[in-house]
Amino acid sequence: MLNVSPLSAFNDNYIWLISNGRQAAVVDPGDAAPVRTALAERGLELTAILITHHHRDHTGGIAPLLADWPQAQVFAPAAEPLPVPGARSLADGEPLVLPGIGLELAVLAVPGHTLGHLAYHGQDMLFCGDTMFSGGCGRLFEGTPVQMHQSLARLAALPGHTRVYCAHEYTQANLAFCHAVEPDNPELKKYMQKVAKLRQQGIPSLPTSIDQEKAVNVFLRAHLAGVRARAQLQAMMELNEDHEVFAALRRWKDDF
Ligand SMILES: [Zn+2]
Repeated sequence: MLNVSPLSAFNDNYIWLISNGRQAAVVDPGDAAPVRTALAERGLELTAILITHHHRDHTGGIAPLLADWPQAQVFAPAAEPLPVPGARSLADGEPLVLPGIGLELAVLAVPGHTLGHLAYHGQDMLFCGDTMFSGGCGRLFEGTPVQMHQSLARLAALPGHTRVYCAHEYTQANLAFCHAVEPDNPELKKYMQKVAKLRQQGIPSLPTSIDQEKAVNVFLRAHLAGVRARAQLQAMMELNEDHEVFAALRRWKDDF
């Protein structure tokens, strides 16, 4: 049985630690310090480092961790500059088994936030970096709205019970935006209360699930008539395609 736990880094990043009780992998270690502390406290050996995209707050801890754990294997997107020499580059559909913990993952290309962004799916878990957040999605730094809309649709098509491990605790701010778009969504109201309680106690709102996100996350709901109507009102223009609704929502959120 694998255990997955969040390590807080910077203001609102989560580094996900996956372990079998002896060996461990980390996803997107932007900072080495919280990983070192957790490995020492739990007596774990670092065997794998998994990277979703090239941003510094996801990669900055790799080199210092390799200094401590030189045998750990780094996996990173093939379509982006490799974060360290010797990293194994991955592309969509390539087979991946994390050394040590033996976790088998499907590699999914999800361009949008960055062009080479990858997500990893296996054993009912999804590690999606800055592509999907609870109630939101990543900003479009490199990709187009069409790409991001397709990437999110790909993630939304995974089994509903899949646990979604996002890389930031942005949930409450995202849900405030979802509420502005869909003030009458009863599932959203329920979820906002649940998240507020967790955050008051300092507990992460993550992981979320695919089903949960389909019920509340407006960026997965651009196909709904009510969401389209609200986005058209805000954009003051007719939006014919779902990806146009998505783009209007993303622009609106950028200034929200
Ligand atoms: Zn990023």
